[in-house]
Amino acid sequence: MSQADINMSQLDQTFTLIGRSGESYQSPVRGILGGHRGNKIYGCLDCRAALQAIANGGYVKHRVFFPDEITAIVAGYRPCAACLPEKYAVWVRPAHEVSAGT
Ligand SMILES: [Zn+2]
Repeated sequence: MSQADINMSQLDQTFTLIGRSGESYQSPVRGILGGHRGNKIYGCLDCRAALQAIANGGYVKHRVFFPDEITAIVAGYRPCAACLPEKYAVWVRPAHEVSAGT
């Protein structure tokens, strides 16, 4: 395979992005966050948990991307516990716990 062939295939590549209403669409731009459509999780593009799952071959067809974090949240995805532990901790904490006792 020549260098030109590699470049051509990259030009043809599109990514599955998720919009704010949860719908998916194809984009030549990957976005800044990755996610798993089946599990409704979003995280960093270089997330070790995601990359390990991809390496095992069980993730790729569910792999989606987000243009920004707000889109991921609005679309109903939760933070990844592996690469976004602080956001995940906030997410798992029940909202009613904050105002309990009032
Ligand atoms: Zn992650």
